[in-house]
Amino acid sequence: MTTLVYWFRQDLRLADNPAFLRACADADYLLPIYVVDPEAEAKTEWGFDRVASHRQAFLRESIEDLKRQLRALGSDLFVFSGEIQAVVSLASIAVNATAIYCEQIEAPEEIDQVTRLQSSSVEVKQFWQSSMLEPHDLPFDFAAIPDVFTAFRQKVEKANLKFANPVPPVTRIPPTPAWRTQQIQTIDLHAESHLKSFKGGETAAALHLKQYLDRRLPDTYKQTRNQLMGMDYSSKFSPWLSLGCMSARTIAAELDNYESKYGANDGTYWLWFELLWRDYFRFLHFKYGRKLYRKTGLSDHPPSKFGRAQFAQWCGGHTGEGLIDAAMTELSTTGYLSNRLRQVVASYWIYDMKGDWRAAAAWFESQLIDYDVYSNQGNWLYIAGRGTDPRGGRAFNVAKQTNDHDSNGKYRRRWLKQSGESVKTELDEE
Ligand code: FAD
Repeated sequence: MTTLVYWFRQDLRLADNPAFLRACADADYLLPIYVVDPEAEAKTEWGFDRVASHRQAFLRESIEDLKRQLRALGSDLFVFSGEIQAVVSLASIAVNATAIYCEQIEAPEEIDQVTRLQSSSVEVKQFWQSSMLEPHDLPFDFAAIPDVFTAFRQKVEKANLKFANPVPPVTRIPPTPAWRTQQIQTIDLHAESHLKSFKGGETAAALHLKQYLDRRLPDTYKQTRNQLMGMDYSSKFSPWLSLGCMSARTIAAELDNYESKYGANDGTYWLWFELLWRDYFRFLHFKYGRKLYRKTGLSDHPPSKFGRAQFAQWCGGHTGEGLIDAAMTELSTTGYLSNRLRQVVASYWIYDMKGDWRAAAAWFESQLIDYDVYSNQGNWLYIAGRGTDPRGGRAFNVAKQTNDHDSNGKYRRRWLKQSGESVKTELDEE
């Protein structure tokens, strides 16, 4: 009899989850678990919570949804709190498991979690499954991935790679094993969400994708993607992708169906193109690993000095620069910000305020409900000129950006605090 532990990480779904499917096939008894590590969610070195309330809410909703789905198939999700290595190995000992299966995450902290687990003499089997393309289909080795995105994309297109097919959904889950609870206690997570526009979990993800396609929004994506306000100017897939509530392959496969039904257009191509950026930042991790997490990134110039007072102005939306202040208010109020404004506020912090890029990247990590380790690190390095940008960094002119994207001031009026007025969330009114 084989007993396995399945450790859910950033793959909180049952559809297109090859690692979980494999665990279900290999096990006679299966213990699905999730671990909340309070230490990892504690304060950053910059003095704020690493996982602020919006991210917390979205995560908890996603976990609850997964639990409901597992229960509907006769299984369950056991949620523990504690240091990952201690908790996962205790759980595997409690059920006498022969191995732990999980998704592979190729970022330093996540690699270290698995390394520590392996040192506690439990076998850990990891499965790479978070990209749209299968790494072994790529027409080059990881070491030879082109540094420049355009060259990467051209090679992928020349090889005719679009996406890897999603695997069939899990239909049968082995029973959960009996286990001794005195050693380890599960916790109850209460997801009291105040997020109006984004509901965590695989169920909401599938509904969101369906309505996005049913309403033919891909057709206008290319024209609207740099706008700032509303739910429809961009896909808003990112929160669900970040926790793996849906896979990039599922989205790409649905886009492919969409193209067969309605024809391919600029919009469908650009959505795929953006998902390819997501893959690119993932695959760069296989090439550069921890170098991407040095304070210099891939460059050799040290970060600027950290100024606490300036940082508080930037985070709190008190710089005196309207577009920046409005954007930073939107970010802390909703946990989401358009791609264009992410670029502009990042540039403003790095090039206008001359701040340490690492503190600002950590602020994004804390606030964003779509925080994704690869995309956040990759984009910050890119803008800061410490990644693979052939232009050596991206400085945006705020006056020009304001004129191009908010010439009538609508966005700034929506988010700037007026004296005596509370800031309404734009998305609340949708
Ligand atoms: P759409 O425009 O609809 O794009 C579709 C999908 O393509 C997105 O869901 C996303 O998965 C992918 N994508 C789009 N743009 C990018 C990009 N530049 N890099 C990587 N993938 C992309 N994205 C995150 O998911 N998590 C992050 O933590 C994150 N941090 C960022 C930090 C900075 C400084 C910047 C400039 C960008 C960051 N992004 C991050 C990328 C991008 O801003 C978001 O993916 C996008 O705004 C999400 O909204 P959407 O789903 O509507 O995107």
